[in-house]
Amino acid sequence: MGEAVEAAAAAGADYIHFDVMDGKFVPNMTFGPPLVRDVRPLTSVPFDVHLMVERPWELVEAFAEAGADNLTVHVEGCPDLQRVVQQIRNLGPTAGVSLNPHTPVESVRHVLGELRLVLLMTVSPGFGGQTYIDAMTPKIARAAELAASENPECLIEVDGGIDVRTAPTVARAGARILVAGSALFNTRSVAATLQELREAAEGALR
Ligand code: ZN
Repeated sequence: MGEAVEAAAAAGADYIHFDVMDGKFVPNMTFGPPLVRDVRPLTSVPFDVHLMVERPWELVEAFAEAGADNLTVHVEGCPDLQRVVQQIRNLGPTAGVSLNPHTPVESVRHVLGELRLVLLMTVSPGFGGQTYIDAMTPKIARAAELAASENPECLIEVDGGIDVRTAPTVARAGARILVAGSALFNTRSVAATLQELREAAEGALR
């Protein structure tokens, strides 16, 4: 993990995105706050921590202390979303809210004013290496439109199946933070692939 963080940072990544899975909210497990804390000293690139867990409010303090710059929770996992968003912001990090593919964008409208980002899952969460769901493109556009009207500082982030082929599509739809996992790390050169991804996304906006 340390090597991956250093490679992404050296390649010029704007954020390091961490997928935290608990084996309950999603059918897979990854890591907890100690790992984030252990790799924190390796770079000054902001840490974007995506909590795919049940009861995320019980973990946000530990992840904030571990060095998360942004903490994202799922609307599906938070009966009192506004309270969790406030809790995150009170601890210091910026807050994001994530939506599974079937969850409507309107479900986050009431907290948009307090968010740094809305993270749209463009695959079903739980595993890397999945294929981008084409039906998510109009949802990105809808989220971007809603965010622009409620809070222009809130960016749309996409996670799942992002590669050089899908990057232009999501960028054109309004995504401004693109998460890449398999597409980046399953290549010979993280730096060259990151540059390709960036050019594909930015080129689509020119
Ligand atoms: Zn993620």
